[in-house]
Amino acid sequence: MENSSLSSVKNVILVLSGKGGVGKSTLSVQLSLGLVHAGKKVGILDTDICGPSIPRMLNLENASVFQCDQGWVPVFATEDEKLCVMSIAFMLNGKDDPVIWRGPKKTAMIKQFITDVHWGDLDYLIIDTPPGTSDEHLSVVQNSKGKVKGAILVTTPQAVAVSDVRRELTFCRKTSIPIIGVVENMCGFVCPHCSECSLVFSQGGGEALAKQEGLDFLARIPLDPDLAKCCEDGKKMINVFPDSKTLNSINQLVDKM
Ligand code: ADP
Repeated sequence: MENSSLSSVKNVILVLSGKGGVGKSTLSVQLSLGLVHAGKKVGILDTDICGPSIPRMLNLENASVFQCDQGWVPVFATEDEKLCVMSIAFMLNGKDDPVIWRGPKKTAMIKQFITDVHWGDLDYLIIDTPPGTSDEHLSVVQNSKGKVKGAILVTTPQAVAVSDVRRELTFCRKTSIPIIGVVENMCGFVCPHCSECSLVFSQGGGEALAKQEGLDFLARIPLDPDLAKCCEDGKKMINVFPDSKTLNSINQLVDKM
């Protein structure tokens, strides 16, 4: 069977965005941590071969993977071993080494990530994809067939990012991937002094898109310097800022999985 290493994975969720820098990896990590906090066993697969950022966000930059009889063993990101991660970054000699690969090599690597990794029993496998729709996305879909619960579309509130996300929508429809819903990230700025949220850009683009397309609007996450710092330092929001309002917004997303 093509995706036998996913045989004990209950749900595969793809995280997609039309363009880079809208917070797809950040949300993949935060969603995964939220699910773990809710008692689930979770894996994250970082398929952004050319710009893997998940290991840094989880303070796993110096980790490396090894092989067991059943395949590659992913890296555990929490002491209770409820969150495991696989990323190309674990296989590079230096963390700043570039990956300069053509399409076929990238898609072969993604196939291996899905079929040759010993994922074990997982409630959720969250797949963080590169921006856009490319061969890598097709490889993810082809190799995880039958396991994909759906895709989360991430956008910033501004119109350009929202029109980019429409292409993701078409991709999901053409490949018969159900769409779980839309998340609007970086919506408003949380002041580090007074914790008030100011609307820097327009807001509501993601919500309007969801409405127009008949999709669920899952959550609105503000641009929060505390969240950015946690990602930068590889720390977990729940440990550093347990009372953060942003965590509440992330939990809305977790509750909808
Ligand atoms: P993508 O995966 O879409 O390329 P990232 O998740 O890597 O985007 O996010 C890009 C940058 O923006 C990162 O430095 C990340 O920490 C920051 N970021 C993303 N979302 C937020 C947010 N809601 N608040 C603060 N910083 C954020």
